[in-house]
Amino acid sequence: MGSETLFLGTIITVDAAAPRAEALLVRDGRIVAVGDEASVRAAVSGARAGADADATPAAGGGSGSSADDPALEVIELGERALLPGFVEAHGHPTDSAIVLSHVMIDIRPVTLETADEVRAALRAGVAAHPEGVAFNGWDGLLQKGLDDPTLEQLDEIGGATPVVILHNSGHVVYFNSAAAARAGIDDDSPDPVGSHWEKDAEGRLTGKGFEVGTVFAMLGPTLGPAAKELPAMLADYLRGLNAVGLTTVGDLSWDAAKQPAVDAARAAGGLSARLRLYEMSGPGRTASVPVANGDGLVRQVGIKTWADGSPWVGNILISFPYLDTEGTRSIGVEPGSRGSANYSRDQLDAVVEQYFPDGWQLACHVHGDLAIDRVLDAWEALLERHPRDDHRLRMEHVGTMTPAQFERAARLGVTVSLLIDHVYYWGDVLVDELFGPEHGGPWANARAALDAGLRISLHNDGTVTPAEPLRNMAVAMTRTTRSGRRMPGADGITFDEALRAQTLDAAWQLFSDHEVGSLEVGKLADLVVLSGDPSAVEAAELPGLRVESTWLGGVRVFGA
Ligand SMILES: [Zn+2]
Repeated sequence: MGSETLFLGTIITVDAAAPRAEALLVRDGRIVAVGDEASVRAAVSGARAGADADATPAAGGGSGSSADDPALEVIELGERALLPGFVEAHGHPTDSAIVLSHVMIDIRPVTLETADEVRAALRAGVAAHPEGVAFNGWDGLLQKGLDDPTLEQLDEIGGATPVVILHNSGHVVYFNSAAAARAGIDDDSPDPVGSHWEKDAEGRLTGKGFEVGTVFAMLGPTLGPAAKELPAMLADYLRGLNAVGLTTVGDLSWDAAKQPAVDAARAAGGLSARLRLYEMSGPGRTASVPVANGDGLVRQVGIKTWADGSPWVGNILISFPYLDTEGTRSIGVEPGSRGSANYSRDQLDAVVEQYFPDGWQLACHVHGDLAIDRVLDAWEALLERHPRDDHRLRMEHVGTMTPAQFERAARLGVTVSLLIDHVYYWGDVLVDELFGPEHGGPWANARAALDAGLRISLHNDGTVTPAEPLRNMAVAMTRTTRSGRRMPGADGITFDEALRAQTLDAAWQLFSDHEVGSLEVGKLADLVVLSGDPSAVEAAELPGLRVESTWLGGVRVFGA
């Protein structure tokens, strides 16, 4: 008989059949009873039944082991609340672990607010690392006055030092001549499929690459040597996720070359969150593992494709033009541009055909409304060729997706995961600088998705925004930006809807709702204890609740 943990107090289950409970019992890593206190106490192992009165600590909350049986831990929640561990359906843990480590310098807008701070960090980084330096997090829209850097400017800053700067979106990489030479890229280098090297009128590199193929080419010399440190970096990163209540995270840029590092992290006890992997697609490739693989802790569930890029760098495919503003000029977008896509319809068809017939779930990054049409067209045809009942085809971020497109997605059984923090950090930019109120206002329209009948999830997308599930819920409910503006054009969602999007429905998108995502008998005991009842506070107060402890399979992985 293993140890048992009995929680007493406010319990939010996210189980529609019984949304609230007074008590929950964990044994051997699973939930064995949940419900009213008397019935759950009755489920405590028989030998301990007589010790119940003594097992409850004195008033004032806290936790403690029964004096009669040290194998029973009783936790009186008091003012606190117990919920399912949060699930991030779309993260990048194995990349973020490296990007946020010592091998890259953090210049994200959440870290450095002004253009001057970024410029100073670039100079200091080059001085400290003459052998080569990589930065993460450039964002000229939030770090105002930071115009798109040119090859010449980065040559001036770096000289013989290779300088690589990853845009905060992850969709653009800037580099100098020394970095290009080190990566073996020159004016004649071919574009990777789905990516491209920007060239000037004379066909020369401009120091800017778009999309994942160019990003990995330029960051290879940084990321490659870091791989041996990945097991420890990943453990650190996952501990950070536990600190905000996350217990499961999707990895939407999985590279099977990292499998040994994940295995090593696991062997060292460093996997304190469940990983659900989506391997990056590529032309002519097939999946590196069979559809049936892994276990409850680590499992590849799908394949990832990027249909278009980022609104912040101008390469989403839209039916309406970018505004002509200081902001769009600073990011190098031509006035009136309607963006671009990474794949033609034919290329999309070819990619999905490589994987879907084998049984894989597909997840496709897509922001622009025209790109969304293209993906839906491709998937509708795919499902006609290869019908499947429970495919859970996923569209990622879907910034400009319209109510009609959500309804079409619902008819096809397609689900969406929303980067709702775009609204919080970039909401003002979306309306004032990029797209105006009509197209920027309803960005990431969770309300319309739910009204169409979709199950949705909310995510932070690795390093793009801080992992902050409680803020995601608040933003989806209030649609209020960091400056306090209420975004026009879309309504908020309810607390219960937001919670499902950060727990059970996120787990469902990861084909993991049978094991996590709600507090039901038989599920793994992935839990979070919050400092207060999140359903009893104003939405704006949600991000202020503290995560007091986080539990993975009944084991405390954060807090006391
Ligand atoms: Zn992503």
